[in-house]
Amino acid sequence: MKIGVVKEREVGEQRVALIPDVVAKLVQQGYVIQVESGAGEMAHFHDDDYQAAGAEIINSLEDLWGGVDVLLKVAPLRDREVEWLRTGGTLISFLNPLGNPWQMQHLADRQITAFALECVPRTSRAQSMDALSSQAAIAGYQAVLQGAAALPRFFPMLTTAAGTIPPAKVFVIGAGVAGLQAIATARRLGAIVEAFDIRPAVKEEVQSLGAKFVEVALQEDTVASGGYAKEVSEAAKHTTQEAIAAHVQTADVVITTAQVPGKPAPLLVTERMVSTMKPGSVIVDLAAEQGGNCACTEPGREIVHQGVTVIGPVNLPSSLAIHASQMYAKNISTFLKYLTKEGSLYLDFEDDITAAACITHGGEIRNERVRQSLHAQEPSIATVA
Ligand code: NAD
Repeated sequence: MKIGVVKEREVGEQRVALIPDVVAKLVQQGYVIQVESGAGEMAHFHDDDYQAAGAEIINSLEDLWGGVDVLLKVAPLRDREVEWLRTGGTLISFLNPLGNPWQMQHLADRQITAFALECVPRTSRAQSMDALSSQAAIAGYQAVLQGAAALPRFFPMLTTAAGTIPPAKVFVIGAGVAGLQAIATARRLGAIVEAFDIRPAVKEEVQSLGAKFVEVALQEDTVASGGYAKEVSEAAKHTTQEAIAAHVQTADVVITTAQVPGKPAPLLVTERMVSTMKPGSVIVDLAAEQGGNCACTEPGREIVHQGVTVIGPVNLPSSLAIHASQMYAKNISTFLKYLTKEGSLYLDFEDDITAAACITHGGEIRNERVRQSLHAQEPSIATVA
């Protein structure tokens, strides 16, 4: 089976879908790996490294995109890339299928079998294929480093001849995969950490990392199926804002990571709360791309609002390109092997992992939620043309 690794063309995307070490293992297992020349360059993996691992380097974009059985990618497709795929071929990548339902229709029309890695179920069995988690952990880590770099104070407590420096206070909002890694990273740097999440079940995990859990009593169910958070009522959002305001006010760094799958990010830090923070404090809003948890966030920008630095990073995992690619390569190669039987793709739609991740196959969109979102969104110009 011929597997292709393409060069990412999305602005700012530095990751690559397979790294040379993983290529070597796949080659040993009988896969033929073709890598587009320069595909790993931004993540510091060079064509020579891939060649030494047993891959073939392909210089022509058409030959690579149009010549392989399965194409591996990181960032969702740009519309023109859909045209480069081989009719009847297979694609495994992040696809943002709910945000791009018309592109999914276009893939189906082109008879492409497309798997969205973000749709792999978050179960123990699928853990090694869970690219959402591996990349979220990187985002949580990087968010703390960005916050620390922008803060005009130390993180750890220091006792020096020039006086004693108290530790920084960090408040993490949302204790999912990214939030827990942010807590752990801030603790490693010596900060005092508090954290809040509307799912009460995370209290023990927060405490086990040495942080204090901020409890907010909400009069409604906050957990949906699969352990994810639910979108809560306006009244509950208001109660939450009131309860966390004092913790935001005293924090040196606030890291927000709160998200509800398929919905805009909840607004938790209001402009008024930001204006109560000490000058020089920092907010890093990991939900910036989904609308932001903070009213002052501007996606992709760092702004200063009444003396408080508000950072709205986009695609943070890409900034740690070597390890982000390494972890992604482990996830995507495990998924590829999961779909392979006796050297060919074998799609068992009775299997929960295959069924959940497959968005298009046999000329149809297989995912019900994507089909529903087709009706809610206008087709993009590129898809119509
Ligand atoms: P996410 O990125 O969707 O959300 C981040 C966090 O924001 C979540 O903890 C959520 O509870 C929280 N949140 C949502 N609305 C909020 C609000 N109004 N106020 C405060 N916090 C709010 O979540 P994620 O990190 O991708 O994963 C969340 C859950 O997914 C986990 O707790 C777990 O149950 C499940 N999961 C399971 C596995 C596995 O079993 N292999 C792996 C990863 C995740």
